[in-house]
Amino acid sequence: MCGIFGIYPHKDAAHLACLGLYALQHRGEESSGIITRNGKKVQIHKALGLVSNVFDEKIIRSLRGELAVGHVRYSTTGSSNIKNTQPFYVKSKVGDVAIAHNGNLTNTLSLHRELENKGALFQTSMDSEIIAHLLAHSQNKDFKDAMIWSLSKLEGAYSLVLMLNDILIGARDAQGFRPLCLGKLDGAYVLASETCALDLIGAQYIRDIQPGEIIFIKKDRLESLKPFKETRHAFCIFEYIYFARPDSNIFEHNVYLTRKRLGAQLAGEFPVDADIVMPIPDSGTYAALGFAGASEIPFEFGMIRNHYIGRTFIQPSQGLRDFRVKVKLNPLRQALDGKRVIVIEDSIVRGTTSRIRIRTLRLAGAKEVHMRVSCPPLKFPCFYGIDFPTKKELVASRHDIAWIRDFIGVDSLEYLSLEGMLNSMPLAKENFCTACFDGRYPTSLPKGFSKEVLEKG
Ligand code: SF4
Repeated sequence: MCGIFGIYPHKDAAHLACLGLYALQHRGEESSGIITRNGKKVQIHKALGLVSNVFDEKIIRSLRGELAVGHVRYSTTGSSNIKNTQPFYVKSKVGDVAIAHNGNLTNTLSLHRELENKGALFQTSMDSEIIAHLLAHSQNKDFKDAMIWSLSKLEGAYSLVLMLNDILIGARDAQGFRPLCLGKLDGAYVLASETCALDLIGAQYIRDIQPGEIIFIKKDRLESLKPFKETRHAFCIFEYIYFARPDSNIFEHNVYLTRKRLGAQLAGEFPVDADIVMPIPDSGTYAALGFAGASEIPFEFGMIRNHYIGRTFIQPSQGLRDFRVKVKLNPLRQALDGKRVIVIEDSIVRGTTSRIRIRTLRLAGAKEVHMRVSCPPLKFPCFYGIDFPTKKELVASRHDIAWIRDFIGVDSLEYLSLEGMLNSMPLAKENFCTACFDGRYPTSLPKGFSKEVLEKG
């Protein structure tokens, strides 16, 4: 859960990186950072907070140079502190290295140990730092070979935007868990997690960085390498369900249209007689549109969102989360009073947030509340960069649907089937990771997480 951005060569690189990060803010609200390179001089500004809090005009003007790398972060590995903000920068024997990383590695522990044995001193608890140490420990003189060797050591999920001296590099793991796209603006190349960042700066989308591809951008020259053995793709299906912005195309297809299809499929699988269909805004909105269209039940906004409150799902502490649920969505009595309501959720993680929301709908006069969820029950943790870390916290891994229905306090509850979810996708099902739903992990698990441990939770 991070957003990454890079641009080169452009005279307004820092400015455009800042705008790109604004567009990617939904991918991480904890910290924001930009690094630029001007000749041999590297400048960096990063801090805890939203892009709008971390950067102002003066700071952006001070970040000179035609090459910029940016990052917005939510901590899935490493604690939430200033040391762990990105881009991670280090001066090493290969030169200046700055890394913006999205995804989680699964072999962090063994690489950490291996590198420490070789004398590496770690400054942070981020797995992204491992990549910098690998580059520094590579025996290859050629930077491309050093990059290939370093990436060949990694397991798990990574989309990377990297500055290595005066070269901008983009890379995606061989299974392609996280998205990364390439665009062009005024002759400069742009790398971004999602196409919404290209749209905002007026860049033209060229293509996705392919799974297993590394691209090297030096001035206006782009070189692409695919040094790794082709393997089964494992695009994160949860990007389509919840995480990516609806106006983005990820994995080459539009998120908004996919969410509408999920909603229509859900209406077909679990119809219910009701007066209105309403979303839990904002991420449930598009599936709710699909549900309403397919079921011919009117769509209404039964809750109004306060846009000045951050996304609760990506707040790190439980105490804060409960408070924020209450202040974030205000039920609309005029739409709800006396009505039989179908509420569309994009997913249920812990169930506590849904429980509070349903209570507020009933207080606003809803006569019946039926919940439909546009993905199957989330039962397994994600090791590839989405924050539902332990089985214990996932309500569906410990309880059946009837229990969750009663806990949340709805009259009926149904989840989209795994098959229905996959059939709603714009790509064949073999392309996706669905491990959080079915426990079929596409990589070996991190040390300490055997299948048996997972089963026990
Ligand atoms: S486990 Fe789930 S959230 Fe994690 S990468 Fe796979 S589909 Fe995405």
